[in-house]
Amino acid sequence: MPIRTGKEFLEAMRDGRRIFMDGERIEDVTTDPRFAGAARTMAELYDMQHDPALIERMTFPSPSSGKRVGLSFIEPKTVDDLIRRRGMVKIWMDATCGMFGRSPDFLNIMLTGLAAAAPEFGHRDQRFADNIRAYHVEARERDLAMTHTLLNPQVDRSRPVERQEKDLAAKITRETDRGIVITGARMVSTLCAYSDDILVMPSTFLASSEEAAPYAFGFAIPVATPGLRFVCRPTVVHQNAASAMDYPLSSRLDEQDAMAIFDNVLVPWERVFIHRDPELCNGLFNRTGAMPQVMHQTSTKNLAKAEYMMALGFAIARSTNIDAHLHVQGLLAELIQHAEFVRSCLRASEADAAIGPSGLMTPAAMPLWTVRMMFPPMFIRACEIIQILGAGGLVSVPSYAELSGPAAADVAAYAQAANADAPTRVKLFRLAFDTAVSSFSGRQQLYERYYSGDPVRLAGALYALYDKAPHVERVHAMLDELERKYGVLRDALSEHPTG
Ligand SMILES: Cc1cc2nc3c(=O)[nH]c(=O)nc-3n(C[C@H](O)[C@H](O)[C@H](O)COP(=O)(O)OP(=O)(O)OC[C@H]3O[C@@H](n4cnc5c(N)ncnc54)[C@H](O)[C@@H]3O)c2cc1C
Repeated sequence: MPIRTGKEFLEAMRDGRRIFMDGERIEDVTTDPRFAGAARTMAELYDMQHDPALIERMTFPSPSSGKRVGLSFIEPKTVDDLIRRRGMVKIWMDATCGMFGRSPDFLNIMLTGLAAAAPEFGHRDQRFADNIRAYHVEARERDLAMTHTLLNPQVDRSRPVERQEKDLAAKITRETDRGIVITGARMVSTLCAYSDDILVMPSTFLASSEEAAPYAFGFAIPVATPGLRFVCRPTVVHQNAASAMDYPLSSRLDEQDAMAIFDNVLVPWERVFIHRDPELCNGLFNRTGAMPQVMHQTSTKNLAKAEYMMALGFAIARSTNIDAHLHVQGLLAELIQHAEFVRSCLRASEADAAIGPSGLMTPAAMPLWTVRMMFPPMFIRACEIIQILGAGGLVSVPSYAELSGPAAADVAAYAQAANADAPTRVKLFRLAFDTAVSSFSGRQQLYERYYSGDPVRLAGALYALYDKAPHVERVHAMLDELERKYGVLRDALSEHPTG
């Protein structure tokens, strides 16, 4: 099957998956009002791949079937491939204002990066290398949507997983001739309600010991696999909104986050990529070069998000003429800097790209690490700027439904602004509210803080990765040079004043 249509995607979601929310099992994520908006968004993303105006920019001929497949599955061999792939990601990200972070391209790119490093997976057993390669081809040819889960539940973060008093983390409980059996939980799986498969991979450091080995695995299975359940957080979709225009982002873009629970789940051997192998797990994403590929996608998401926040800031400021004030221009200039900073880093990562350890054209990691570390505070600041610009207007502008309700005449008269009639202002300020004030916004801010890892430990990882030695040497070389030129003691100078 080449690229899927939205209709095919929605049909695939009706597979008996076990998704729970608000104390009940969700029968159909494509129709339940808490889930249907984001399901429709996913369908629209898939349909975009078929749009004659976009198909060339979003797809490429499959190297195995020759049919058109998603460009996020491409194994980039040239800088041009990276740029084309970024273009595809940007189309999806612009359509969602960068607020649907786990659209399928995210994991398509991660999986492509990992599969290209198949020999790593086969370092002890060639089967696992073959498995991840075959899975990449399958995901590409079936145009799968994937969710992923990396972390063990927050139980006692002061102890390693194998030394927990409450042993809740997913682990291998036994092997059979058909596969491995997993029981326990993983902490978060975003997009699980809208995914075909779940990719379960390692992330945190594991000891090289017999005790840690049952937690050292990697695999992919269908979301609807028997024994697999997902317990979701409550939705941020407003269930009593008079109009979707009151919550133009939350109503469409709540990609959902859930705890993944494995209850004696059989993972067939052909879908196992890592088996009781802490050595392979540790540092996997950086070692394989998959991480810069993923960061190229997330930075493109950040660019779309920064551009959207900037555009929104401009539009709000223009509507009431506050952009006449110098400090408002300063706030808007901050939004410009966010967008241009991310764009520059992305371009730098492509300009300095080189063939990586797995043979893929790999964007330069450091500009992307810089975005990874700096974008979370930028986005949180951007939400603050939207609040500062919108001020009381964010709560005084009424529901879109008022434009046609009994108070319509009052709203038409009094909800206007200098440069916007009432409908324009209501739509704009409801969008701003949803972007920067709503619970959807709170979740977006939390997402940016953590989706890519704990910033504290990421900073440590960046420091460890960075090639510091030449910089330290440079300082010492400079001091040696200064000493050679000027290191004469004052007393010596006074004895020989002419030098
Ligand atoms: C909206 C959202 C969506 C997400 N989606 C996914 C997903 O789809 N798949 C997935 O796998 N994960 C997902 N995550 C999880 C994300 O990867 C983690 O939140 C992140 O890695 C931080 O881990 P944690 O939440 O367990 O925090 P913790 O490790 O519990 O840390 C909590 C706090 O304690 C501190 N702390 C804890 N331990 C240490 C330590 N050893 N050293 C120093 N400081 C420490 C941290 O600095 C932090 O401030 C998502 C998270 C969010 C918020």
